[in-house]
Amino acid sequence: ISASTKQYLDRSDAYVLPVYARPPFVLSHGKGAYVWDTEGRKYLDFSAGIAVNALGHADDGVVEVLTREAGKLLHTSNAYHHPWSGKLAELLVTLTQRDGGLGWEAGTSSSPQHGAKVFFSNTGTEANEGALKIARKVGKERWAKKTGKAWDEPSCDKHEIVCFENSFHGRSMGALSVTTNPKYQKPFEPLLPGIKVGRLNDLGGLDGLVTDKTCAVIVEPIQGEGGIHPATVDWLRALRKKCDETGAVLIFDEIQCGLYRTGTLWAHSTLPVDCHPDIVTMAKPLGNGYPVGAVLMRDSVAGSMTAGTHGTTFGGSPLACALGHHVLSRLSERSFVAKAMETSAYLHSRLSLLPKWFPAILEPKIRGQGLILGLGFKDAAHPAALVGMARERGVLVLTAGKDAVRLVPSLNIGESEVDQTVDVLESCLGVL
Ligand code: PLP
Repeated sequence: ISASTKQYLDRSDAYVLPVYARPPFVLSHGKGAYVWDTEGRKYLDFSAGIAVNALGHADDGVVEVLTREAGKLLHTSNAYHHPWSGKLAELLVTLTQRDGGLGWEAGTSSSPQHGAKVFFSNTGTEANEGALKIARKVGKERWAKKTGKAWDEPSCDKHEIVCFENSFHGRSMGALSVTTNPKYQKPFEPLLPGIKVGRLNDLGGLDGLVTDKTCAVIVEPIQGEGGIHPATVDWLRALRKKCDETGAVLIFDEIQCGLYRTGTLWAHSTLPVDCHPDIVTMAKPLGNGYPVGAVLMRDSVAGSMTAGTHGTTFGGSPLACALGHHVLSRLSERSFVAKAMETSAYLHSRLSLLPKWFPAILEPKIRGQGLILGLGFKDAAHPAALVGMARERGVLVLTAGKDAVRLVPSLNIGESEVDQTVDVLESCLGVL
């Protein structure tokens, strides 16, 4: 490697907290589905910054909005209004009405059954923190209404939070408390009290899990970091029913699977409304790489939040919201999504041939939907080995969970990028 690349790596080793196990190369720039390192090597990026760069790298429209807004009004804090937060919040709500989600069946925008509100955060973790806090407050108020006591009575016990095995919701104390990976949790205990852990898709396990003490249930409709595991419709319906019976707030974390990655606005958009959540959290692709997160909630829970009950300095800045509005407007174009799903179908068809030649791959061969896909392996060492080999051959993919290689590319990739990726995966599998 060149002296300058070595210097970048050495400097990082010397001064950056070593919490990431990063491969020894340094990325310098990107365009579309490709990134380049400081040695001039080109990589096809099928990781998209972990499901973030939905429109690819250095997208002209994104760069235009960023530079325009940065030169106009970068930041105001939430002490003041600016035009963009209302515009982005309105777009999120109207698209949810148009495409389905949060209790709306697709296409009901002309006759909304209920309203919705948005809180803007910077990251996914913060969106989940916000959602959990909202659920806590709703829980206290529902308990107060039911018991006739004051919401701040010490005897209020409606504060338990239910989460699921293999979930990932973030690394801050609250989000970490519901991120059920002992490797992430153990060194930082004690975490939040009152956390109960269930198993995804375990219908029988819901009794005794979600109770009158539960204020929140948080779940990814498709678990991302945990290995690309989709929740089943029947189980989500039963979960929704339990939440309704007990007065718990149902939170869908769509930070990785949402915003058109599955082919619809939300991974739950096409599910029957009796599976829908009260709150959806989002982040990753909303700013296409610039940090923008949000909590979208039904009015029935939003009503608990009044001035001063939650906040952030940076969340919902003019720049973040203008960019979010631009990105979301483009992702939500019917032709854009249709093209992305055509590419997904082609990727599916190519990936589905792999297990025929490479029995190391688990059945079912492909997990996930749209452009959030996982290939499971029988040998837990294979995913990381494959990721390393693919990188050597110019393709960036990720691992997920204990046994999977994860494909979460930009949503505007084409068939030639699919071919390049699958060809490289094939060549690596041949010598794995
Ligand atoms: N929730 C899910 C489902 C995620 O995949 C992630 C990040 O990978 C997070 C939450 C945390 O988001 P962030 O890293 O933006 O804080």
